[in-house]
Amino acid sequence: MPLRFNSCPHCNSKITFKIEMEDIDSKQYPAPVYIICRSCNKLSTFYMDSLLRVSYKELEKKPGGIKTIETT
Ligand SMILES: [Zn+2]
Repeated sequence: MPLRFNSCPHCNSKITFKIEMEDIDSKQYPAPVYIICRSCNKLSTFYMDSLLRVSYKELEKKPGGIKTIETT
C-alpha cells in the first residue's frame, strides 16, 4: 500500500496518506482523489499519475474522483 507524503493546499501542513490503484479511476491520468486534511479538516483534490504519485492538487472538490481518503 503506497504511502505518500505531501502538503495540504489549504493549511500547508505536512500530510501522509495511503493510496491504492482501486482508489482512482484509471481511465485517464492524472486521476483525481479527494484528500481530507487531518489538521484543518478541509477537502482538496489530488491528481495522481499512473505510479500513484501526486501530479498536482486543487483546493476544490473537482469532478471525477471515486474515493475520499483521510490523512494519517
Ligand atoms: Zn490542511
